[in-house]
Amino acid sequence: MTSSVLNPTKVRSGSKKNRAGAPSHTKTPSLPKHTDFDQITNQQFDIAAEHMKLEQEIRMLLRTPYRELIVQVPVRMADGNLKLFHGYRVQHNAVRGPYKGGLRFHPEVDINEVRSLASLMTWKTALIDVPFGGAKGGVTCDPTTMSRQELQSLTRGFTQKLDMALGVYRDIPAPDVNTNAQVMAWIMDEYGKKHGYTPAIVTGKPLNLGGSQGRDQATGRGTMIITREACKAFGINLKNASVAIQGFGNVGSWAARLLAEQCAKIVAVSDVRGGIFKETGLDIAKVLEHLKETGSVVDMPGTRTVDNAELLTLDVDILIPAAMGGAINKDNVEQVKARMLIEAANSPVTPEADESLQTRGVIVVPDILVNAGGVTVSYFEWVQNLQQFHWDLSHVNAELEKHMTRAWQQVLAGHRENKLPLRIAAYCVALDKLAETTRQRY
Ligand code: NAD
Repeated sequence: MTSSVLNPTKVRSGSKKNRAGAPSHTKTPSLPKHTDFDQITNQQFDIAAEHMKLEQEIRMLLRTPYRELIVQVPVRMADGNLKLFHGYRVQHNAVRGPYKGGLRFHPEVDINEVRSLASLMTWKTALIDVPFGGAKGGVTCDPTTMSRQELQSLTRGFTQKLDMALGVYRDIPAPDVNTNAQVMAWIMDEYGKKHGYTPAIVTGKPLNLGGSQGRDQATGRGTMIITREACKAFGINLKNASVAIQGFGNVGSWAARLLAEQCAKIVAVSDVRGGIFKETGLDIAKVLEHLKETGSVVDMPGTRTVDNAELLTLDVDILIPAAMGGAINKDNVEQVKARMLIEAANSPVTPEADESLQTRGVIVVPDILVNAGGVTVSYFEWVQNLQQFHWDLSHVNAELEKHMTRAWQQVLAGHRENKLPLRIAAYCVALDKLAETTRQRY
């Protein structure tokens, strides 16, 4: 990654050196090629809309992105050649507030993926009840082969091209896969050249540029809160419950730390290079140390090596995919033995796999709820920037707890009262708010 100081977990998860000699970006969680991400998200929307008997006009407005930008970003590379990159920003929906969503730098970024992730942001912000809409962006590039200077030029060029679409009350980007606090600092700086000091233009910034306490751990903390609540609701004792986590980056490592604090037994974790298993439970502080020293969790003394495929099929109480989309699919779903699956990554379970898990009675807690902690604390960061007043960590965490548990209660009520899968119940909570606001506007 570009800066170890700014985002240590990202650095730890990417171990290779790029050609600039800096630690590289993590190999990106991405959907298998056969998965049509856009189709998946629309399918889930359609099921919920049908259940709610939403009027066709509202469905049409909510399903269709408001604005899609595709821009060219030329960058003079270190070797003297001019390289042309393509950047995207999809502003999906803003009936409830300014567009909000991350920026992804990855070779597989395309308009379909960005569009689909933008729609997930619309449902997520409505479900967790922050006054934002949904957006997503990205640049098709391979950051692992780029120098820090090239990445900075790319980020600044992209910011200039997006300038007319961004704004503190219009569209506020954030980090996503392979972008971090340093990238947000460059965006803020570039935007500020034209508009003056504007920290609220991005979230996920470094602390001393207006970032929020607790933003780095927010998605992992939200994952822990939802896991804890789901255990209570479905009669699983979290104390000593066995947990396997795929992905030990920002989300996975924080979820592991915080679940271990709740006395859960984290028996397996993995990163892109492979995983480790210990039946009596891993010492997460030691795993973090090992990761810091070696760049990976693998080969940690006193553990057995497992590969990522095996990790997903371990006989555990709770399985947490926190790396890639499409991790659980028709090819491996039959081997999943966990009682409960907590979707910390975006779209880690394909629809076919989801159906199979439901039939077998596996509890699947959906991504738009589980990983909503990140955008929730991004909202707190934006509020702090607008007020020019800093919150302390305990205040951030207490407010996050409120948002997460309130959304969980609403989803659980929908699940129980209407006999809906948790995913569809979550979509219904979100769509209900979005539909109501849309009717009031049109
Ligand atoms: P990250 O880059 O910090 O970490 C990703 C982890 O997954 C790393 O440990 C990496 O080695 C591992 N990994 C990558 N490819 C893998 C593979 N093929 N098999 C197994 N492991 C693999 O990313 P993150 O920020 O922790 O995000 C993880 C997931 O959570 C992504 O799907 C992301 O979209 C989602 N998410 C993140 C946030 C956030 O605030 N960071 C918020 C919402 C959703």
